Amino acid sequence: MHCDMNAYYASVEIKLNPSLHGKPVAVAGSQADRNGIILAKSEEAKQQGVKTGEVIWQAKQKCPNLITVPPQYDQYILHSKLAHNIYYDYTDQIEPFGLDECWLDVTASKALFGGGMQIAKLISNRVKKELKLTLSIGVSFNKIFAKLGSDMNKPDAITYVSRENYTDLIFKLPVRSLLGVGYATERKLTKYNILTIGDLARTDPAFLQSKLGINGIKLWLWANGLDNGRVRVYGESIPVKTVGHGITTTEDLYTDIEVWRVLLALSENVSKRLRSHSLRASGVQIGVRRNDMSSTEFQAPLPYATYNAFYISQNGFILFKERYDWKKPIRSLTITAINLESSDIPRQINIFHDFSKLAKLEDLEDVMFSLHQRYGTKSVYPARLMENLKIAKQVPYDIKPPGLPVF
Ligand SMILES: [Mg+2]
Repeated sequence: MHCDMNAYYASVEIKLNPSLHGKPVAVAGSQADRNGIILAKSEEAKQQGVKTGEVIWQAKQKCPNLITVPPQYDQYILHSKLAHNIYYDYTDQIEPFGLDECWLDVTASKALFGGGMQIAKLISNRVKKELKLTLSIGVSFNKIFAKLGSDMNKPDAITYVSRENYTDLIFKLPVRSLLGVGYATERKLTKYNILTIGDLARTDPAFLQSKLGINGIKLWLWANGLDNGRVRVYGESIPVKTVGHGITTTEDLYTDIEVWRVLLALSENVSKRLRSHSLRASGVQIGVRRNDMSSTEFQAPLPYATYNAFYISQNGFILFKERYDWKKPIRSLTITAINLESSDIPRQINIFHDFSKLAKLEDLEDVMFSLHQRYGTKSVYPARLMENLKIAKQVPYDIKPPGLPVF
């Protein structure tokens, strides 16, 4: 089954402050940091047309009595854990997908608690009673259809997608509603008149492969109910393939030097996460979103594999300078360490690139990060980062709005 907590951030806020109950409520970032966008909204706000992602003033034009509250991420993380604890009474195969969603495999618990629908009712009732939150649950024979089921009816609903009814329930849905079909894939499929999941299921997989590569085969299998993905055991770590960090800046960026400062600041987080997984990057990828919301991406190998923040960001910046045309100012930047390898394997020194420079940088950063652990991240840092970075101070970067994939 797939359990999805309804209007998650807003529901937690209403639970913590019951006087908001029944009112149009939105959780929104602060206007000063340009995060003044709607992160989540209550059912009442939704009915008046308030949308996630729009700015507060737009939402208030449609819904003048909208109450906005700032996000309390620690509470969202806490309630997510509390829901997981309830799920854990029924199965240990719990795979979170963002803070508010989880897949559960309850196959082995059927003898104890009854079938999937029965367990879904038990879980839904307990979450309502104990956490004062509601769930939409999809029950099915694979992860993809369970997720579609939980999207089909909300709030506070249970939907059963069976081997018998899936062609009736699923095939009429727009292709976009299938996990893995983003904006770009939807556009390609539309070109070939593949508009629904049923259209996708009936298309020759060889044709899909020729247009979408291996992803085409995967989508065809998923559309036909042939997804055989396993639900992970709770706490099982997902193998790390890339480590990235991105941010929307508080003002648009106009110059190379502004980009350099942001990349350097972002790379510190990337480096610390690489170190915690004992990994090195042998490539770097830069993602750029322009102020017209269009985006582009560049990637290149690194001369040496490393977890060094300065080296990764410096090579990322060189790549950026070579490839970005500056026709548009920049709204957000991402730097990602790619082609990861274990940091335990030896590195081949190469006569065309001076390894001693990198070795010195690594030593320097080791000292810097050990000082961070003892005295905090403000104890010592590159002088460049003393300048105006156009980055908001207190946004926790690992938190994404509910519903976004975590990998
Ligand atoms: Mg949700």
